[in-house]
Amino acid sequence: MMNYNNNDLGCTYYNDRTVFKVWSPDAANVRVQLYKTGSDSEEGAQKLESYGLKLDPNTGVWCVTVFGDLKDLYYTYLVTVCGKTQETQDVYSKALGVNGRRSMVCDMKSTDPEGWNEDKHVYVKYPTDAVIWEVHVGDFSGSPSSGVSPEHRGKYLAFTEKGTTVNGEGKRPTCLDYLIKLGVTHVHLNPVYDFDSVDEASGEGYNWGYDPANYNVPEGSYSTNPYDGNTRIREFKEMVKALHDAGIGVIMDVVYNHTSSIDSCFNRTVPDYYYRKYGDRYLNSSGCGNVFASEKPMARNFIVNSVAYWANEYHIDGFRFDLMGCIDTTTMNLVRLTLDEIDPRILIYGEPWTADLGENGIAFDDACVKENAYKLSSRVAMFNDSFRNALKGNNDDSSIGYIQGNNHNIYYVISGILACSSSTFLKWAKKPTQCITYNSAHDNLTLWDKLLKSSGMDDYDSTDEHVLAMNKLSAALVFTSQGTPFILAGEEMARTKHGDHNSYKSPLSVNAIDWTRTRKYRNLVNYYRGLIEIRKLFSPLREATTVTVNNTYFETDGRCIAYTVPNITHGEWDMMAIAFNNGNEPAKITLKSHITLPESWVVIADGDRAGTEQIKHLDGNSISIPPMTALILVDGHSFLKCGGTLPEKKQEPKKSEPETLQDEMSGEKAAEEPERETVNEPAVSE
Ligand code: CA
Repeated sequence: MMNYNNNDLGCTYYNDRTVFKVWSPDAANVRVQLYKTGSDSEEGAQKLESYGLKLDPNTGVWCVTVFGDLKDLYYTYLVTVCGKTQETQDVYSKALGVNGRRSMVCDMKSTDPEGWNEDKHVYVKYPTDAVIWEVHVGDFSGSPSSGVSPEHRGKYLAFTEKGTTVNGEGKRPTCLDYLIKLGVTHVHLNPVYDFDSVDEASGEGYNWGYDPANYNVPEGSYSTNPYDGNTRIREFKEMVKALHDAGIGVIMDVVYNHTSSIDSCFNRTVPDYYYRKYGDRYLNSSGCGNVFASEKPMARNFIVNSVAYWANEYHIDGFRFDLMGCIDTTTMNLVRLTLDEIDPRILIYGEPWTADLGENGIAFDDACVKENAYKLSSRVAMFNDSFRNALKGNNDDSSIGYIQGNNHNIYYVISGILACSSSTFLKWAKKPTQCITYNSAHDNLTLWDKLLKSSGMDDYDSTDEHVLAMNKLSAALVFTSQGTPFILAGEEMARTKHGDHNSYKSPLSVNAIDWTRTRKYRNLVNYYRGLIEIRKLFSPLREATTVTVNNTYFETDGRCIAYTVPNITHGEWDMMAIAFNNGNEPAKITLKSHITLPESWVVIADGDRAGTEQIKHLDGNSISIPPMTALILVDGHSFLKCGGTLPEKKQEPKKSEPETLQDEMSGEKAAEEPERETVNEPAVSE
């Protein structure tokens, strides 16, 4: 089948003409049908002209130029193939009418909000510098407790509201102001492309949106007017700009592994091409009835051009690939290369699994699963589920992990602390940049609900000290580990969905963030905020290479875990020690290191609080850890050297220039490690 590599499919608007181009090599006939509105139920609905497109037999592309100003007119294609004519919206739609049934001719420039030209991407230098907060647009502000104005609740524009407080009482900040205080670097948005499951006309219903309909257009139900194709685009950009203005990057959850239905614009335009089939049967590694054939050239082109479009048109700073195991490694590396041309700091990570690997239809060796991480760029990261399970037990049952006192998987915990980048411990990642370190996401029980369930409790508003201690142990483990830390929005306020482990279509009463919990669980929120602050001030925790992995010295008695992390970065603390006791009795552990240990330590995090202030002073290296406690210690000398507090501003790390971000996948052979001095060889003691 012939392919087409130019990036001009879809409709291209000029004020005196519009060019329509669609790839459909097997079609016998293609027409474009213009409409006045996005649906027939709207006032002023009218069917306008239709125009025949002409096939270029060399490329399979059908094309027509329609003269006149077509701005804001809606259109569909009538595609005749295999003797059947079907009407469909454009596979390459940039704008849509209500519920995405008709595409719209859009003057994209006119959708830009004020100041959009000055809007800049928000990047971190290395993926491991990011702190990611995963949120659903509806959940963010859907509760009145968000303090967001009623007309913006659950909408893109909620992100643009400043000065919001819990219940509008003027005390505790919510939403954007809250995020600035919390210190996360990136907001990860659950699907915001156009999905099928929420009726945009009624605005009723709730869904996570893992049922893509139109990949290159924002979802309409989050806009204030889903009928006007321009509104959702403009409001989406306003959301991005508001987050950028607050210094926060925006990551999109992208679901290129399947479409909402087999009866999609793809299948109506080029029947069966875009899906994997076995005989007459659609394969189902997505678990949703079809799987997108990422390995086919035009499907691959579609994915690559789609992410580039979001990065360029909407200034998106990162992408999270749903069921990345359904996608082939060649495509994901091409996504990386393509985004590198825009900026190598754009984040990419994904789920390294499928719903059913036997139904994947591509060779195991080609799938983006952990076993094939070595084939991927070290800046295509994967969720570390083995760390997650070792920390808290299985997602939804009452099993327990390390934070609830189970020591059977302690080596999975240690390997996770090292982002699975150490050959000593269960390595699959090339470098920490390839690992997403986390303990909760939108799927499954919230961390709080899981901790309650595994403790045999069901009071979701509990303030049980023991459960809170487990939660803090989890947070301390995630934020002091290598890799990129990631949390479900509200994990830091003991977010509950009342035990609902799969809330994808549950109502807002279950899903929306209850911002009053920032008051009730303020000690926990402050603990997370303090950990983020610590992480930002001590660069070895954010190391992009394996230098810290190789210099970290572990000590464990099979229950407590302690490790020391040296640092030679100028202007920062010289060494950190981190110790965990998951038992109900105090424990003692002796710290060790490859280099000389300090004579004294300053405690900056304990079971109660975390931050950059001295909690207490300790002499020597034999450390007592209270029950159910994480301790973070800083070498006393360098702490005092910084005046007993911390430098006002973190100095630019004086490391030698680490690996170029254009890593091995760009074809350039990059240095495997920076020329930074390795303090010592890796070693572990039992
Ligand atoms: Ca929709």
